[in-house]
Amino acid sequence: MKNIFKKIGLIFIFFIILAVIFFVISLFFDEAVLVRKGTFYRAQRADKVVALTFDDGPSPIWTPQVLDELKKAEVKATFFMLGSHVERYPAIARRVLAEGHEIGNHTYDHHVLIYYKMEELEKEIQEAEDAIKAVTGQSPRYFRPPKAWLSSREKKKIEEMGYKIVLWSLNSKDWVTFHDKQITSYILKRIQPGDIILFHDSGGVFTAEGGNRAQTVKTIPRLVRKLKERGYRFVTISELMDK
Ligand SMILES: [Zn+2]
Repeated sequence: MKNIFKKIGLIFIFFIILAVIFFVISLFFDEAVLVRKGTFYRAQRADKVVALTFDDGPSPIWTPQVLDELKKAEVKATFFMLGSHVERYPAIARRVLAEGHEIGNHTYDHHVLIYYKMEELEKEIQEAEDAIKAVTGQSPRYFRPPKAWLSSREKKKIEEMGYKIVLWSLNSKDWVTFHDKQITSYILKRIQPGDIILFHDSGGVFTAEGGNRAQTVKTIPRLVRKLKERGYRFVTISELMDK
């Protein structure tokens, strides 16, 4: 009996260590670079344009603050929303569109689709599409998979559903960076024309809802000011794609 408890304890410790290793890797490495093939993750542009994107919203706490900052900075962005959050906070989703931003599909419930069967994948995306359409009257054209992971078969299926898959070229790591100055300087060191920057307007380190996005909110005015000084212009995903 004692041995069984010892074994269970060891397995538990093993998984904890594994989780910590994955967490540390994700601080320094962006796994999205492994699955970029066949997706739109950056535009080849000579002119200085950049697209800000915000995932996992809408959030009743953070999205309005993000929208306020974008309005003050006169910047349009793209929000990849969860269908379940759109149903919970429809007025915020409508405000996003009313203020000239774009909405993309980020699944219904933030499941990592690489483990999914094709029918389940289709359902996750279709339900989010239906929620966004019901609330805003518009069907999203862009899809961003949670955590970026997708197989080539899944990519094909999503394109057949009428979507363009959009990842990012620059990950702000705002979900694990706790100071806006740090987020800004990380981006300023790496920025290139045509970049798509990933932010979050909802969620914590391990959740898609709640969390503290205060650093993301604070980053917007600082980053926009610095990029404008360097001659950058801010565009939505369709503007970035259209040229
Ligand atoms: Zn997400």
